[in-house]
Amino acid sequence: MTAQDIAQGYLTSGKLDNLPDSHFINGRVTPPSNRKMESFDPGRAEAFAEFSLGDDGDMDRAIATAEKAAASWRLVSPGARCTILNNVARVFRENADRLSVVEVVDSGKTLAEAEGDIESSARLFEYYAGAADKLDGRSVNLGTAYTAFTLREPVGVTGHIIPWNYPTSTFARGVAPALAAGCSVVAKPAETTPFTALIMAELLCEAGVPEGLVNVVTGLGSDVGAQMARDPRIKQLTFTGSVSTGINVAQMAAPNVTRLTLELGGKSPLIAFDDADPEKVADGAYWAIFSNSGQICSAGSRLILHKAIRDDVLAILTERANSIRPAHGLTAPDMGAINSELHLARIKAHVDAAKSRGANLLTGGDVTVDTETGKGWFFQPTVIADLAANDPAVQDEIFGPVLSIQNFESEDEAIQLANGTEFGLIASVYTQDVGRAMRVASAMDCGQVSVNDYWAGGLELPFGGNKKSGYGREKGLEGLDAYTKVKSITISNAS
Ligand code: NAD
Repeated sequence: MTAQDIAQGYLTSGKLDNLPDSHFINGRVTPPSNRKMESFDPGRAEAFAEFSLGDDGDMDRAIATAEKAAASWRLVSPGARCTILNNVARVFRENADRLSVVEVVDSGKTLAEAEGDIESSARLFEYYAGAADKLDGRSVNLGTAYTAFTLREPVGVTGHIIPWNYPTSTFARGVAPALAAGCSVVAKPAETTPFTALIMAELLCEAGVPEGLVNVVTGLGSDVGAQMARDPRIKQLTFTGSVSTGINVAQMAAPNVTRLTLELGGKSPLIAFDDADPEKVADGAYWAIFSNSGQICSAGSRLILHKAIRDDVLAILTERANSIRPAHGLTAPDMGAINSELHLARIKAHVDAAKSRGANLLTGGDVTVDTETGKGWFFQPTVIADLAANDPAVQDEIFGPVLSIQNFESEDEAIQLANGTEFGLIASVYTQDVGRAMRVASAMDCGQVSVNDYWAGGLELPFGGNKKSGYGREKGLEGLDAYTKVKSITISNAS
């Protein structure tokens, strides 16, 4: 069946066939628990399925299973790991239609966005398949008295706490390098998007990943997520989510000195100088903030405009934002839904507070619905202009389709504004002056800078933040570092 057939079936019946409704441990779906939670379709604001809420016993079994599996997987030859991970990429692509539709219904994003996420997930497995047999150490020159070299060894059991905005590709960007490095996995998807991680774990086994190597426990973050963070058998914890939960997770992991990767979001700036083309700036800013309904850690949520081009850029951008049709992700809209009612209320509270401070709201500013059905959790594409550096709309991560505009005159001022939040994930600079582009790029306190484009780069580039955006890098060859530990070996050459 094509994605269109599956989508049509869902839009007619409100049901999706063959959804796993419980945890995936030791290569199979476990019997459903008595404690269940409803999963909602954000595009309709209606429940469409239930899933199991895990308890201490489920998480304990998953970690014990992963610990056993890690002991044998580290002995599998790098070449064999490479073959299996390439199979995973193929199996994901064969199941892309089903995975994409489930992702739309569970997360609220558009079908085109979900299809992009599944392809990225397949590419991540392909990319790290290619790295599995290249995890070499190095030979170290200690003179003639010793032969010295390093080994890169797998860390063991790895824990992955997954957010709801990119449930498939965040799963893949942690699981693929972990498996390539010889580690095993326990993953916990977010409460509002439990299904694709379960399906992907099943597909991994179908592709030849040994049973028990990848386990998924669904449930509450404060419950099974916290248990995972506290468990000493987890040797590397990869967390993506909010700053407050990330700090909490770091505190829970600290007594065991567990290795951590924290990816905690941002308030990323797009800086446009007076020599930039207003059309290109408006186009970059449009995609930077309205992709995935703004629910992206690296969204371009601040547009920092030189005063000379402010009016031109904002006229184009506001007109485009006004033409956006938000609707159910399976009906080919310009923008999908907000993932949960709770998160929609958070976005609304941020924007209401800005309005009550007298914000210069150029467009949007309120919740809306899918106009075809009158249902769903949607927020209007919103642009708020002329904000001061200390305004909460500039400082707080809103995580929705809300763009904050700041204005500047000098290069120093632009740099100061861009770096003037507690976040430091990515940044972008639009200018025709190469020297200025490089000066600004070098001054940015963040993990990635693009010039004259916003979403430049891909999974081949390391990704991660500075300051409260977190630490550690995922993607790229650097993404393997979290899952390997370096051991130095020296051999005396004495006779
Ligand atoms: P969250 O940080 O609470 O949830 C992220 C993940 O952490 C989920 O899987 C959740 O179950 C788990 N979790 C929650 N509490 C936990 C705990 N005590 N111990 C272990 N795991 C726990 O995020 P949220 O409440 O779903 O969203 C709130 C904010 O987080 C958003 O407004 C946004 O700013 C941010 N966010 C960022 C990203 C990102 O990509 N960086 C993704 C999602 C959300």
